[in-house]
Amino acid sequence: MFYESVDTIPSVGDKTKEQLTMLDIEKVGDLLFHFPFRYDFLELKDLEDLEHDEVATIEGEVASQPNISYFGKKKSRLTCTIQVGLVAVKAVFFNQAFLKDKLVMGETVTLTGKWDMHRLQLTVHKFHPKSFDEASSIEPVYHTKGNLKMTQLKKFIRYALKSSLHEVEEILPGDYLTDYKLPTRQEAVRQLHEPANQTTLKHARRRFIFEELFLFQLKMQYIRRENKAQSIGTTKVFDDERLQSFIQSLPFQLTTSQVKVLDDILHDLRDETRMNRLLQGDVGSGKTVIAAIALYATALSGQQGALMVPTEILAEQHEASLNELLGESLRIRLLTGSIKGKKRQAILEEVANGEVDVLVGTHALIQDDTIFHRLGLVIVDEQHRFGVKQRKTLRDKGLTPDVLFMTATPIPRTLSITSFGDMDVSVIDEMPAGRLPVETYWVKHNMTERIHQFLIDQIQQGEQAYVICPLIEESDQLDIQNAVDIFETLRDVMPESIQVGLMHGRLSAQEKEDLMRQFANNEIQLLVSTTVIEVGVNVPNATTMVIYDAERFGLAQLHQLRGRVGRGSQQSYCVLMADPKSDNGKERMRVMTETTDGFELSEHDLNIRGPGDFFGKRQSGLPEFKVANIVDDYRALEVARQDAVRVMQEGRLEKDPNYAKLKHLIESDPLIQERIFD
Ligand code: ADP
Ligand code: MG
Repeated sequence: MFYESVDTIPSVGDKTKEQLTMLDIEKVGDLLFHFPFRYDFLELKDLEDLEHDEVATIEGEVASQPNISYFGKKKSRLTCTIQVGLVAVKAVFFNQAFLKDKLVMGETVTLTGKWDMHRLQLTVHKFHPKSFDEASSIEPVYHTKGNLKMTQLKKFIRYALKSSLHEVEEILPGDYLTDYKLPTRQEAVRQLHEPANQTTLKHARRRFIFEELFLFQLKMQYIRRENKAQSIGTTKVFDDERLQSFIQSLPFQLTTSQVKVLDDILHDLRDETRMNRLLQGDVGSGKTVIAAIALYATALSGQQGALMVPTEILAEQHEASLNELLGESLRIRLLTGSIKGKKRQAILEEVANGEVDVLVGTHALIQDDTIFHRLGLVIVDEQHRFGVKQRKTLRDKGLTPDVLFMTATPIPRTLSITSFGDMDVSVIDEMPAGRLPVETYWVKHNMTERIHQFLIDQIQQGEQAYVICPLIEESDQLDIQNAVDIFETLRDVMPESIQVGLMHGRLSAQEKEDLMRQFANNEIQLLVSTTVIEVGVNVPNATTMVIYDAERFGLAQLHQLRGRVGRGSQQSYCVLMADPKSDNGKERMRVMTETTDGFELSEHDLNIRGPGDFFGKRQSGLPEFKVANIVDDYRALEVARQDAVRVMQEGRLEKDPNYAKLKHLIESDPLIQERIFD
């Protein structure tokens, strides 16, 4: 029956079929894989402890013949007296006429339902024809949709278990079942729906957690292998001594962490296979230097590099810092939308004939009619948008450069191996020595005047400051102070010598860039802004940030914002003005004042928000697991990953017939094809 349509089940008509379809249940077998999303654990209670209207489980002896009456269309009411200790309880069952034969005089039964204290009556929704035992204490709870009742759904699932469970095929090779002491697939499916006890339920869950994570990791490893196999021809040969002497000439020593990630990257550059690597490191951890070294190595090998960033102003900043580091030996050019006409033409020519070693710009940089002489490395900073489409653009130009992604979003360890499972990941997890952590304070809004004075003091010492307010677009609906009010208030409060600027989402891109430039040049000392401050903008003289209504921001966002200060050698400050109502909000403020470690914050964030929300479901590339949860099950995830790596390395998928089912599942997944480059 497994592959038969659900309407082969007696009592499933067109309507019910439609509702089942909404739950993605089309075949009888699909019912078996519609797992409960939670379990209630019932406890036997004494009658005298029950409160009116409480849902409770009681045990007693059938003390009367069941009595049944029908009303309306197909509706029934079954009643029966149950002796519970000295009390005769009236049990009422609606539309469960089939239970009539199971209520046998003198037998012990267990009933769960709503207790009516005045009538000594229980309206039963769960019946167990025996004494209370472990099996009857576990109540699976399922998601339903539309008018489909859970009791109906459970009935269909029982039907599917009877008719089709034997057709459920094992997909894991036997070794895993033995090694990890996992139940078979059939047994696990049964236990998820009808657990015998808590232990068997736990093992059934363990089995599917492993199955889901293992399959997922196998897919990731598969994509990775296929992509590597197709990326021959990116070998770079460069003089290591020259590279090392460049590294020696830097005004500082690389941190241990930087040395390690640089090793990974240089290895990829030398290697035949195409690099597809994510470099992850908190704001200020020194990613740009690493990028510069990689670009230098690429240039030494006679190839060109491109650095792509999300905005023009960032492009300008990057060009400036690359020039500082590499300007003496390399030719670096900036290419953005506002560079037009002859100037643009000249740059494009230099790029095409190979005179330019490094081209810096926004992501349009590769989409335009830019022709590279010999593009060997693309570095993508702070954007997740560079994906399949951009790769195709490059490929269409006959280019297969190494690709390095850089991100300052600290991705919790537990997430990074999964969401980027088809990429290699390098992490800079330490800050350069001597960095002063940003001192962070949480104050209530009634401190506003003192905070204004603090801003004045800081600015009069020659430093600059940001004031951040939540989005003005939302101000109509939400009772938030908007940026304009705050800006006007601050302008009134500040001495005349202090220039105050206002930046918000309604300004044009050009206006925003102009404001940022004025701020960078210290023509503006206090910048009031909604969260449109661009990621990665670097104004080292800005040492103070005040965030209004800070409870409206998530941890990740607060951390990103705070990263705008603490970029110079002076002590920086971040003041969170917030009167959070929820515990969650208070927790976030507390965490912010206690740590500046992005990884620690991101773990908190993940725990508060859950993995789906962390990146946004679509972006994360995370599948929706039925049983597994990558936060709680990160240990299983790591085991699954190691196993998957080993399976791929040993070529088991192809060689070992025990893996045939897994191989088929992987290769028939449409998402897999999407993520393979060619
Ligand atoms: P990120 O790009 O990760 O935000 P940057 O590369 O811009 O960080 O580095 C931030 C600052 O730290 C820069 O001024 C850079 O020159 C400096 N820096 C980078 N690495 C080190 C190091 N190992 N020791 C000291 N300073 C460093
Ligand atoms: Mg390579």
